[in-house]
Amino acid sequence: MLACAGCSGAAVRGNAGATEAAEASQAFSDNAVADADSLYAFVERQVELGPRCPGSEAHRECGSLIVNTLKGYGVDSVAVQRAWVTTFEGKRYEACNILGSINPGCDRRVLLVAHYDTRPWADNDPDEAMHTRAVTGANDGASGVAVLLETARLLGRDVPGNVGIDLLFVDMEDSGENGGDEDSWCLGTQEWVKAMPYTLTNRPKYGILLDMVGGHDARFYREYFSEQGAAAHVDRIWAVARESGYGDRFVNRRGGGVVDDHLFITRAGIPCVDIIECVNEHTGSFNPTWHTVSDTMDGIDRNTLKAVAQTVINAVLQ
Ligand SMILES: [Zn+2]
Repeated sequence: MLACAGCSGAAVRGNAGATEAAEASQAFSDNAVADADSLYAFVERQVELGPRCPGSEAHRECGSLIVNTLKGYGVDSVAVQRAWVTTFEGKRYEACNILGSINPGCDRRVLLVAHYDTRPWADNDPDEAMHTRAVTGANDGASGVAVLLETARLLGRDVPGNVGIDLLFVDMEDSGENGGDEDSWCLGTQEWVKAMPYTLTNRPKYGILLDMVGGHDARFYREYFSEQGAAAHVDRIWAVARESGYGDRFVNRRGGGVVDDHLFITRAGIPCVDIIECVNEHTGSFNPTWHTVSDTMDGIDRNTLKAVAQTVINAVLQ
C-alpha cells in the first residue's frame, strides 16, 4: 500500500499527503477493503472494449460485461430496463439501464449510480481536429462503473442483513448538447426515474453518483446541486471520508454545480450526492482530460479510485 502510494505516476507532486492517507485509510468492515488494483482492472476491462458510444458493439459488450460481473459476484437480482430515447441531434437509441440489487428484500436501501456510456465526440479537445473522435472514457464513465463493480465484488455475497444496496448503471448520460438544454443529458436516468422499481417503503434513503472518480491526485469538493438536494448526506459522506483517512481527497468546501444524473434522481424523490472531480487545480473545473481524446488509462490513478471506493463502501455500511 505504501509503495503504491509513493509511486502513483508522474502526477504525484511530492505529495506527502497521499502517503499519509494511505497509511491512515481504513475499512469499517474487515471484509470490505477496496483494492486499488482490482479497481484499476475494472476500468481497464471497459477501456479495452473501445469507446462505449451509444449504438456501438463496444457499448453492448460493456452492458454484458456489467451484467455478467454482477452475476459472477453473487448479486441477487440483475434487471435491465430498456427505453427508446432521442438525442438533441434527433437520433434514436434504445437506452439500456442495468440495476443490480444486493439484499433485495431489505427495505433500508442505498442507491449507487454510475454511467457506462461514453461521449461520442471529444468536443473539448484542445485540437479541433479531434472533436469528431469518440472519447475513450477511462475517467468519464469507466471509473464510476469500477467503483460499483468493486462494491459488488466485496459485498455481493456478503453484505450485512440490515442494508440493501442497489447498483444502477445508467446509459446515455453523455450524449448531451454542450451549452444546450440540461434535459439533453442523462437520457437513461430520465427514463429510469419514470419507472423506478420501488414502493414508498423500500425506496432508497439516498443515492451516491460516481462520475470522473479516477483522475490523478483528484480532489472532491461538495458539488453545488448535491448540497441543495442532499446536504445531510453530503455532510455524512465527507465526514466518513475524513474518518477513513481521506480528508485530503474529500475537501470540505463548496464546488461548482454539475448537470449530472443525480439531479434527476433527487427530483424523483431520492436525495442524491454527486462525487465528481469538478474543482481540478489546473482547470478550475473538470479534469484536464474531460471530453478529450486523452481520457485514457494514462489519466487513471489507482489511489484515487481506492479513496473513493473505500469512502463509498464505508458510508454505505455505516
Ligand atoms: Zn462526460
